[in-house]
Amino acid sequence: MTDFQSVHGAAPTGVWAAPGRVNLIGEHTDYNDGFVLPIALPHAARAAVRLRTDGLLRLWSEQGDGQVTELEVEGLAPGSVEGWAKYPAGVVWALREAGHPVGGADLWFDSDVPGGAGLSSSAALECVVATAYRDLYDLPLSNADLAQLAQFAENAFVGVPCGVMDQMASMCCSEGNALVLDTRDLTQRQVPLDLAAHGLWLLVIDTRVKHDLADGAYAELRAGCEKAAALLGLPALRDLAPEGLAGALERLPEELAPLVAHVVTEDARVEQAVALLDAGEFAALGPVLTAGHASLRDDYRVSCPETDLAVSAAVEAGALGARMTGGGFGGSVIALVREGLLTEVEAAVRAAFAAAGYAEPRTFTAVPSAGARRLS
Ligand code: ADP
Ligand code: MG
Repeated sequence: MTDFQSVHGAAPTGVWAAPGRVNLIGEHTDYNDGFVLPIALPHAARAAVRLRTDGLLRLWSEQGDGQVTELEVEGLAPGSVEGWAKYPAGVVWALREAGHPVGGADLWFDSDVPGGAGLSSSAALECVVATAYRDLYDLPLSNADLAQLAQFAENAFVGVPCGVMDQMASMCCSEGNALVLDTRDLTQRQVPLDLAAHGLWLLVIDTRVKHDLADGAYAELRAGCEKAAALLGLPALRDLAPEGLAGALERLPEELAPLVAHVVTEDARVEQAVALLDAGEFAALGPVLTAGHASLRDDYRVSCPETDLAVSAAVEAGALGARMTGGGFGGSVIALVREGLLTEVEAAVRAAFAAAGYAEPRTFTAVPSAGARRLS
C-alpha cells in the first residue's frame, strides 16, 4: 500500500470518490434510449489529486501495474495510451475535446470496486477524475455533463461502446435512493429505497468470471438493436410501445426479434419496478428481477452458466427474485432476500458453485450509497 505522498513526493490538494453501481433493472436499455434503475454501491474509486503546471499527467493506481504512467496532456489522442491509464487519461482528453482548458496532474487511485465484475469499476475511475477536475478547475459542468464526458471518454478514447448508465449512476446516485433515469434526455428522479426498513437485503453475488466474448458481443448487440430500430422506422427501440411489440416481431428478421423483445419488455419492467418502489412495495420487486433475468437469458442471450446458476440457486433457496446485473457473459448477480434468509441464500449459492466446480463467488450486501463527491 502506497499513498499519494510516497508516489508523487508532496501532499495532494484533495481527495475525491466515485462509486461503482448495481442496476436493479433496465439492462441493455441505455443504448436504446430507454430506462434504467441503478443504485450506487458503497464501493468506490478514490483519487488523491494535485494539479501540475508542466502539462504532464502522472498516474498511479493501487490496482494498476506497479508503475507510474507519465503522459503529456497535449499528446493525448485515442489509441495513444495502453492499459488501465486510458480510463483516467481519456477523461482529461474528453474535457479538452469539449473545450475546457485543463492540464496535467499527479493522480493516485485506490478502488474497492471489484474490477471486471459488472459493477462499473471503469465508470468509477472515470467519474472520480471528472469530479476532481471539475472542482480543481472550477468548471461549469453538472453531474450529468460529467457523466456524458466520461461516457465519451470510454466510447472514443478507451474504445468501449457503452451506454450512459454506468457514468450517470456513479455521478448522480444518492444515498438511500435508487436513480430513475430516462437515458434519452437524462431526466432523473431519486426514489427512496430503504430495504432494511422492509426487512430486505440486496445481495450481490460476483461470479468472478468474465467470458472472453463479452466485449465483441456487446458491440454486436448494440448494432443489432440499432438495425432493428431502423428497420421498424423508429429513432430507437425505446419508441416501440409494448402494444406494438407483437406486430413488430413479425416484421423483423429472426436474429433481431428476440433483441427487440428483450428491450421492449425490459423498459416495461423498469416502469413496473418504479411503480412498486413509489408504492413502497419492495418485496414485489422480486418477480420483476427474475423475469428480467429470464429475458436476458432466453431473448438477449447475455447470461452464462455461472450467472444462471447464481440466480436459480438464490431463488430456490428463498430469494424473492434475482437477476444478472451489468453487461453479462459473467459478472455479478443481484438477489432480493428477506433478512432471515440471507445466510441461507448465500450458503446455497456457494454450495451450488462448489458442486458445479466453479470458482468461489464473492458475495456482499449493498445499500444505496452516495454518488461522486469530494472527501477532503
Ligand atoms: P467493470 O467496469 O464492470 O468493472 P470494465 O471492463 O468496464 O469492467 O473495466 C475494468 C477495467 O477498468 C480494468 O481492467 C482496468 O483497466 C480499469 N480499472 C478499473 N478500476 C481500476 C483501478 N482502481 N485501477 C486501475 N485500473 C482500473
Ligand atoms: Mg465498465
